[in-house]
Formats: sequence, C-alpha cells, structure tokens
Amino acid sequence: MTESSSEKLIEVLRKAVSRTSLLAEGNDPKLDSVVRHIRQVINKGADAQQIQDALNNAEPLLIQSDEAQMGRAKLIRSVLQELIDLLEKQPGYRVPQSERKQLEGQIRLHWQSSSQWPQLLKGFLTLAESTLENTAEPRSSSSFFKRLFNRRSSPSDSQKNDQEIMLQISHTLAGLLNNLSLPSHHDDDIADLRKALLGNKNLQELPGILDEVINLVMVAIGKSQENLTNYLNQLNKQLASINDSISTSYHSQKTLSESRHGLNTQLQRQVKDTSQAVKSASDLDSLKSLINDRLSSISSTMTDYQSQMHQQEKHATQSITLLKNKVTRMEKDTVSLRSLLQEKLAQAMTDSLTDLPNRTAYQDAILPLCQVMQKTQKPLCLAVCDIDHFKNVNDTWGHLAGDKVLRLVPKQMRDALKDEDLIFRYGGEEFVIVLPNTTLEQAMERAEAIRLAVVKAPFNVQGEPVTISISIGVAELQPKESPNDLFGRADKLLYSAKEAGRNQVMASK
Ligand code: GH3
Ligand code: MG
Ligand code: MG
Repeated sequence: MTESSSEKLIEVLRKAVSRTSLLAEGNDPKLDSVVRHIRQVINKGADAQQIQDALNNAEPLLIQSDEAQMGRAKLIRSVLQELIDLLEKQPGYRVPQSERKQLEGQIRLHWQSSSQWPQLLKGFLTLAESTLENTAEPRSSSSFFKRLFNRRSSPSDSQKNDQEIMLQISHTLAGLLNNLSLPSHHDDDIADLRKALLGNKNLQELPGILDEVINLVMVAIGKSQENLTNYLNQLNKQLASINDSISTSYHSQKTLSESRHGLNTQLQRQVKDTSQAVKSASDLDSLKSLINDRLSSISSTMTDYQSQMHQQEKHATQSITLLKNKVTRMEKDTVSLRSLLQEKLAQAMTDSLTDLPNRTAYQDAILPLCQVMQKTQKPLCLAVCDIDHFKNVNDTWGHLAGDKVLRLVPKQMRDALKDEDLIFRYGGEEFVIVLPNTTLEQAMERAEAIRLAVVKAPFNVQGEPVTISISIGVAELQPKESPNDLFGRADKLLYSAKEAGRNQVMASK
C-alpha cells in the first residue's frame, strides 16, 4: 500500500473507533467522560502514545462497566427465577412443568443478553397465564397479576402474604430500574417509578407499575438497538470506503511486485466480506465476534505477507551473497589477469635472446628520461653500437654461433658501464646505451671502454678464438632536443665510425 492509502486507512479506522465509542455512551457518567475524552483525542489527530494513554485510562472503567452490565444480567436472572418460584408457591394453581422448563432453559441461554430481557419477561407472562388457566377458578380480571394476586385465601392471610410479595417485588424491580442504562431525560420517570414501587402498598397497582418498568426496559434496549443499527450502518460505510481506497491503491500500483498485489487483493476481499457480513449482523455480540474473526484473518494475511517479504529478503540476501562471491572471483581474476598482463608486457619489452630490454622498452623509457634530464639540466648521452661485419660471423660459423655472440657482446659492455646506464637491444646486432648524468666526455670515455672490452674479449666459437669489434656513435642530449633527434645524431656518428674504418667511437656534442 502507498503511504497515502495507509494514511487514509488509518484515518478511516480512527473515525470507526471514534464512532464506535458513541456506543459506549450512556452506560455510566464516569465512563462517558472518559469516552468523550478518547473521542476528542482521536479527532484532534493525537499520536499513538496519546491514544494509548487515553485507552489505558478507560480500561478500569470499561471493566467496571462490564461488571455493572453483568450485575444487571444476574439481577434479571434472579428476578425471573424468583417470579417463577413465586408462581409455583401459589396455592390452587399448577405451573405447567414443560413450559417452566422451557422458560428456565431460555433464561439460562439468554440471561446475559440485554436485548433478550423483554423476551424473557414475556416468557414469564405466558407461563403465568398458562398457570392461571390450569385452575378451575373463575377469571375476574383481564390482567394476569390481578388474577394472580386476587387468589382466594383468608383475608388476614391474604393481606399479610400480599404485603410480603409486594415488598419483595418492589425491591427487585427498583434494583432493576437502578441498573437500566437510559438517557438522562428519563431520570424523572425512573425516580417517579421507584417512588411508586417503594411507596406502593396496594397490590392492585402493581400490574400498572410493572407495565411502566417494562416500558422503560424496552426504551433502554431500543436505545442500544438504535445505536447498534447506526453503528452497523456507519461501519458498513467505513468498510466500503476502505474497500475503495484499497481498490484505488491497487489500480495505481499495477507495477508493484506480485506479493504486494496478492496482499492487496486478499485484504480487499476480506474487507468486502466483512462489509457484507456486517450488514447481516443483528446484535452487538455477533458483531464483536465477527469483527474479531475478520481482524484475525486480516492479521494472518499480514503475517503471510510478512513471511513472503521475509522470504524475498532471504532471496535478496542470497542473491547479494552470490553477487559478492562473483565480485570476489572477478577481483581475483582481475589480479591474476593484471599480473599476467604485466608478465606479457614485460615479455613484450624484453628481448628473448639476450634478456635485454628491447626497442619498445627503449621507446617507452627514453622520452620521460630525456624530459627529466632536460628539466633538471642534467647531462644525458646516447651511444648507438653496432657489431662490425656481423654477417660474416653468421656466414662463417652459422646462425647459432651468431646468437651466442649476440648474447656475449652486451655482457662485455655491461662490465664497462655504470649501474644506472641502460642497455637496449635495438634490433639485429645493434645496441643502444643510455647514459644518464653523463657528460659527453664521460660518455666518450665509457664508450671507448666498451669498445675495448668487446674487442679484447676472448670469444670462442666452435673451439676457435674469434675477435669481435663494435663501432659506436655517441651524442649528448641538447636542452630542447627530442629523443628521435638525439638518436638520429648518434646513429649518424655510428655510420661515420663505420665509414672511418669500424672498431672506433665517434662523438659529438
Ligand atoms: P657492418 O659492419 O656494416 O654493420 O656489417 P654487418 O655485416 O654487421 O651488417 P649487415 O647489416 O650487413 O648484416 C647484419 C646481419 O646481422 C644480418 C643478419 O642476418 C644478422 N642478424 C641480425 N639479427 C640476428 C640474430 O638475431 N641472430 C643472428 N645470428 N644473426 C642476426
Ligand atoms: Mg653490423
Ligand atoms: Mg647493423
């Protein structure tokens, strides 16, 4: 449900509670003030805590009210039983036992339901009439009480007996009046009737007074029934409105998940069912149990929904765990891929024959190196070296011998170089040496040392000593010179060295 529809639902329930509270009014002045307070709190839109406090205050009074209602019901039951016993005691009359048992059965069943009290009183009247019809005595009066109390006996006995009966009946009926829930405008009627009952010594007047009592009982019950009818109608309207709001929310949320859709449909059906059932409810007790049933079924729907949500959360958690595992695996893969890439990159930068960094590595390294040196105004020299007449080596001793020479020459060079000097196999039998922090003079010296180291190296090919020489062109990096221009100059100097007869160093600023 959306926030607005749940707010609507809360509002509707708020109204329903407020109107339901009207039902409780008129039972007890103390309770009335608490109920009015609850209604004010709800209508003011108080929060849950304030409503809870108001309800907590009402709780003891509601219990008292229930107890008072129970007291009234007990009184009705005992009054009826006393009246039946009184009937049994009447000399010369025989109470029909089957009818008596039937009435007592009805009393046992319905004594707690105030709406049934007039019915029970009518049942007693019928039993009394049947009792009176069971005798041969002539009927002198149309009122059964007149017949009942105008029985034959000696005048003195009769008078004494009548007064006792009067006293008993008057007290019982006054008690009944005390316990009736009536609107305040009936207060005077009740007071008059109580006075008439307690002051009355004339048995002849009792039937009239009793009729009045019955009238007031009917009014009291009529009020409850009227309230109940209003309540049912209002409740029905509220339920229809809840139904509408759920229906609206359902239509506006077509895109929501299946489970939510299911919940809405179920709640909608339950509210609709409740609305229909409420229409046919006839009394407060059945309405209470009906509402309880519906609330528990709505509550179980909500529980189901919660467990579905829980299930979905579980699935979501599982999916997240799966995703996490995937991500972890991917991270591991990435790490191993990265190291593989680095390995491949290193391979791509390395010459497999000599294990020296290759031309690609040179291209990568030379630019930043030149830039740093130019920026820091430090000297850098480049020496381009080429093996002399290498083709002859291959031609004379074979390619493998040539490879061996290609591996040995840089080793000789390394021994004559500084640690920070870098040797690259530029291609074929050509090597480039980068000499950082080296002036041209120093570079020339080192190039000469390299040349000597190579030419003096005791190369041994297929058991024969072979002399290998190299030619070198050396150039110093100029302040704004590019690496390519530097290389071009050194390369030119190399060819100059070749042209000058090989096995020599040519240098220039
Ligand atoms: P110069 O003194 O003018 O440099 O003469 P050169 O014979 O050294 O030069 P040239 O360019 O004529 O020949 C270079 C030879 O180097 C040709 C080629 O077969 C050989 N060579 C290039 N790379 C390799 C290699 O990896 N192994 C072997 N064995 N020979 C190679
Ligand atoms: Mg060569
Ligand atoms: Mg060459």
